[in-house]
Amino acid sequence: MCGIVGYIGDQEAYPILIKGLHRLEYRGYDSAGISLINNKGELNVYKAKGKVSALEKSVEGKDISGTIGIAHTRWATHGEPNTTNAHPHFSQSKNLSLVHNGIIENYKPLRTELEKNGMTFCSETDTEVLVQLVEFMMVSHKCDLYNAVQLALKNVVGAYAIAILEKSHPDQIVCARKGSPLIIGVGKDKTSGRPEFYIGSDATPIIEYTNQVIYLNDEEIAIMNRAGLLDITNLSNVKQTPQLVTLQMNLDQLEKGGYPHFMLKEIWEQPDALRTCIRGRIDKAEKDVLLSGIIDHRDKFINCRRIIICACGTSWHSALIGKYFIEEACQIPVEVEYASEFRYRNPVIHPDDIVIAVSQSGETADTLAAIQLAKEKGAFLYGICNVIGSSIPRATHSGTYLHVGPEIGVASTKAFTGQVITLCLLGLAIAKEKKTLSNEMFHMLVDELQQIPDKIQWTLENNKNIDQFAQMFTYCKNFIYLGRGYNYPVALEGALKLKEISYIHAEGYPAAEMKHGPIALIDEEMPVVVIAPKHGMYEKVVSNIQEIKSRKGKIISVITEDDTVVKNMSDYSFVIPDTRDCFVPLLAVIPLQLLSYYVAIAKGRNVDQPRNLAKSVTVE
Ligand code: GLU
Repeated sequence: MCGIVGYIGDQEAYPILIKGLHRLEYRGYDSAGISLINNKGELNVYKAKGKVSALEKSVEGKDISGTIGIAHTRWATHGEPNTTNAHPHFSQSKNLSLVHNGIIENYKPLRTELEKNGMTFCSETDTEVLVQLVEFMMVSHKCDLYNAVQLALKNVVGAYAIAILEKSHPDQIVCARKGSPLIIGVGKDKTSGRPEFYIGSDATPIIEYTNQVIYLNDEEIAIMNRAGLLDITNLSNVKQTPQLVTLQMNLDQLEKGGYPHFMLKEIWEQPDALRTCIRGRIDKAEKDVLLSGIIDHRDKFINCRRIIICACGTSWHSALIGKYFIEEACQIPVEVEYASEFRYRNPVIHPDDIVIAVSQSGETADTLAAIQLAKEKGAFLYGICNVIGSSIPRATHSGTYLHVGPEIGVASTKAFTGQVITLCLLGLAIAKEKKTLSNEMFHMLVDELQQIPDKIQWTLENNKNIDQFAQMFTYCKNFIYLGRGYNYPVALEGALKLKEISYIHAEGYPAAEMKHGPIALIDEEMPVVVIAPKHGMYEKVVSNIQEIKSRKGKIISVITEDDTVVKNMSDYSFVIPDTRDCFVPLLAVIPLQLLSYYVAIAKGRNVDQPRNLAKSVTVE
């Protein structure tokens, strides 16, 4: 998920690696580390919690010499962000050091097996298991590093981009990838003219030195050495022909993955981010849900009288979808509270209540204060956050991380869909324990949920012309967003997205509430975005659209792909594929994110850093 940089050549590696880490800073991270082999053949590892500058400070006065090295910025997934858990990780004998981006899903059984074989661990990470496994393979199979990596990776389930140094072979780096990107830069030393290699989790740490790169494919392992050798094979040891590519992009474009803004990158990242979010939590073959946060506290969830979800902003909207889902699937009453209100009331909380805090950053001051209050009143606390080791996960009894990767754009996109999916997983996990859904329904919902990332991909690809269409709304002063049932919170979220980044006033309403007041606002100047999938209250929403049309409002609808009825009633339609009613929000929100993005762009707004807003609201 975060950053890797590596170098082998004639130059001093430290300045290249540190600069590379700074280049990767845009991705967001919680700790950093570096490993170098000096000319005495010593393998040094330095790590620090926090920024790259903290790492630089921590190495002052230490030996940072060496012309080969690897470095890492970590965005914790397993084990809180501290110096011990930071990468690089040593193997037991300290002959190997390894950096890793991604998640090793089966790290627990692997660790148990290695412990049985006498290996001891310093950190809580999945990564340390990997480096130990490689060393174990080297010793037990009496093979070299390259073959040991092949053997180890055959036993690994999950995603990885790795780079490894070996003290006893100071002239080579071995790296590999699956699911997480890794790039090799091929260069020539300016003075000696001799070959040199760079490694990067993206091209940003490399572009300054060479534009000749090789994108490693999934399940490929590469070895490169000082003599200019570069060999790539796959896990089955079949030799691969490296494809050298010339990079065309500049640094700024690269940081954003070729997108003009982080927000757009994060919108398009959603299918992959959500695949990571559900990885290891949905058993596709068994159509089952495994959420350790629930399994470990089974009785609490079975016996709980009520769930209260505390959140702010976008997280509050995902919480509302969570409420609808949990109430329907688990038959437990759920209340959704604005954390800022909840904390200053004297809310009634019982010891058999469960309070769930939803926050992307895990640092939202009001949400943190709300759960502290709930804790004092004896409730069981559950956190749903994205940033590992942040304050809310530390303050709660249990929880689930989103695992959608760092979100940098201020307007939340992938964290929202990550929260909705996580709340649905949570609802399914509780329903399974409480047996409140039939087996058939449970399996059907699990099966459908795991298809959502593909359906989001479809939605992104089939609504590409929103940019053209958005131009028309540059001069609008107001927007109304309407939805019913599960899509009412989507209407709220769509309106919030537009407000946040385009500064156009927008309101989200339950569609049927229109006639109780807001309909007075409708005239030919008013765009009304209606979420109208072919589900539950479809006919009723069609009537609501008629009411708006009779008052000359402009209808922009989000419809199921084959729906011609609402399409013909609309001035413009966005299409989404069919899914279960409860999962429509995960698809319907996608065109609304794109609409707000393109309207803001047409208005010349700074979408990644909108005025007056901060990414995480750590003040009251
Ligand atoms: N899973 C690893 C860890 O938690 C790597 C995280 C990352 O990609 O930064 O340490």
